[in-house]
Amino acid sequence: MDLGALALEDVAPPADPLLCRRWVLDWHDAVRGARAWRERQVRLNAARAPDQAFAATLRWARRAVPHYRDLVSTVPLEELRPFQRGDYDRDPARFRAAEMLSRPKKSTGTTGTPLTVFFDDAAWFEANQATFSLLCERVPAPTVVLVTTRADAERYVVPLPLLRGTHRRVSIGRDEDDAVITELRARPPAILHGKPSCLLALARADAARAGEHIRPARILTSGENFFPDDRRTLTEWFGSPVTDAYTSVEGGLIGLECPVGSGLHVPPERMLEVETERDQLRTTGSGRLILTNLTNWATVFLRYRTDDFGTLTHGDCSCGHSGQTISEFYGREVVQFRDGNRFVEVAALTAALDLPDMPEYQFACDGDGYVLRVAVGDTERAELDTEVRAALRPILGAAHLDIVRTPTLTPPGGKAWRFRDYSSNR
Ligand SMILES: [Zn+2]
Repeated sequence: MDLGALALEDVAPPADPLLCRRWVLDWHDAVRGARAWRERQVRLNAARAPDQAFAATLRWARRAVPHYRDLVSTVPLEELRPFQRGDYDRDPARFRAAEMLSRPKKSTGTTGTPLTVFFDDAAWFEANQATFSLLCERVPAPTVVLVTTRADAERYVVPLPLLRGTHRRVSIGRDEDDAVITELRARPPAILHGKPSCLLALARADAARAGEHIRPARILTSGENFFPDDRRTLTEWFGSPVTDAYTSVEGGLIGLECPVGSGLHVPPERMLEVETERDQLRTTGSGRLILTNLTNWATVFLRYRTDDFGTLTHGDCSCGHSGQTISEFYGREVVQFRDGNRFVEVAALTAALDLPDMPEYQFACDGDGYVLRVAVGDTERAELDTEVRAALRPILGAAHLDIVRTPTLTPPGGKAWRFRDYSSNR
């Protein structure tokens, strides 16, 4: 597409006069970002020549980013020492190219203190817009709707110039739910996007109102671990195919779910490794994911130790992808608990707790036993405790299990989780 030929009139401005005021600015901003992103892609040519793409990014980093300044220009990726969140927090400016025009993006900080990363135009466009073009290239002028439960979330509508569509954010759980749901039912989005917990909140709000369901053409989830039962709930309620993505403020789009179910495919501008043991980095296998992001040249993450765990493979997929794939993604979730000298697999617990009308839950080990916290639901059945204990007994044996009820597990805007290990056995 010739981005230079796009005109403001190509996409209808939003009806809301307040949002309309920003429209012209937003449009020029989006087109500038699209151009910068295309130029960066062409310059990197990462799919064809990953080593040169890394070398080009490192050359830039050596010149403009203090942390990389002392490295020799030819250092291969394998010889670069990984750094981590603590290094970044101590001095974020060390990782930033101060001369690059950029804007800050803050993580929500729901799993710790918020992290601020500066994005250049190319990275900003990729993170906020380009992903959608991978999912709905053939839909004319699609709307993408991002759903959040954050109480302080600002409403916005921005143009998507690659798609000639719009991207807007709506909040759920506030007093405007009726209006949001009426609007989404009347004009179903091409992509309904959000964290799984936010989309589940929207599904519950939709279910609480009479009439037709919201029917998006497609659902995009990111920002939380996506469990099979939650996927089933969303697919069944909204009647749409679901694509999951692995994103972070440091890495932008790191993985996008394969259409034939091979895992999360890693785009060529990301290079992942796994740390199987401390400082033992491999290109395939299971362990902590080490991120190299070639797209963002404003805050530069080359060999960054993430807090996410997974299994990495490399090769061709029948969907057409060639390169890296996260075949199993665990994120920050525990994969197994150690109970004495045996292991309790989380996959077995997840399957056992997939009971009819099972409320949202969190399961933790504190060293003395296990705690299952369940959200108090309107639909809860009296026999739930008995059923849960019966389902878990074959897995947990005689281990102590507390079942605790709580009004909310995930605060508005928070990050949902399921399995945590607070014991000293980890
Ligand atoms: Zn694939």
